Amino acid sequence: MKGFVVALRRAKNEDSIAIVLTDKSARSYYRFFGARHSILQLGHLIDFEVEGEDGRFLPRLRSLSQMGFKWLRDRNRLMLWHNFIKLFEPHLRDTEELDRFYFDLLLKAARKWDKQNPKRIVCESYVELLKFEGRIYPIGKCYICEQDLGESVSLMTSFKPAHPECIYASAINKSKIDEFFREGKTIYLNDSEIDILYSVVIKGL
Ligand SMILES: [Zn+2]
Repeated sequence: MKGFVVALRRAKNEDSIAIVLTDKSARSYYRFFGARHSILQLGHLIDFEVEGEDGRFLPRLRSLSQMGFKWLRDRNRLMLWHNFIKLFEPHLRDTEELDRFYFDLLLKAARKWDKQNPKRIVCESYVELLKFEGRIYPIGKCYICEQDLGESVSLMTSFKPAHPECIYASAINKSKIDEFFREGKTIYLNDSEIDILYSVVIKGL
């Protein structure tokens, strides 16, 4: 099986518990510490087998190998990747079966992480996720006061639109946001607008 390590916690004796997102599930697995074992790291794509699936304890990861991306050695890109991938565990917690959409979304993002501004990839991936989950809000009325929006809008978590003065947040041109939601592309947004949108996404999916 292949999956992304979306969360990693220390257990006793340097063992660890990893939450791995595959194309079918986001589940916890136990990993025994061993000098000859490859080190499990947050955000990595791993290929693995599972043992002890039907026992009383957490199933265990075995025959694990890391599937590398060149940018994993780039500290800044890796930090942005951690910020992004960490959002998936709380979002998908308690989901038994998972559509492969989430795994595919991460894989697609990882494959182009070094070819574009990663913050743009985060924003575009998030719009794709909101569409998939049927959570895109129409850009008409303010989510807070329910009055018509003007030329400038701010976005709250889940990219809910609001008047900048209603949520005391930075504003972006409404037609640019509209275009972004419809096309799923950030080409009309400049880097400082991307920074604003990125800071909304990393508050939570
Ligand atoms: Zn308002």
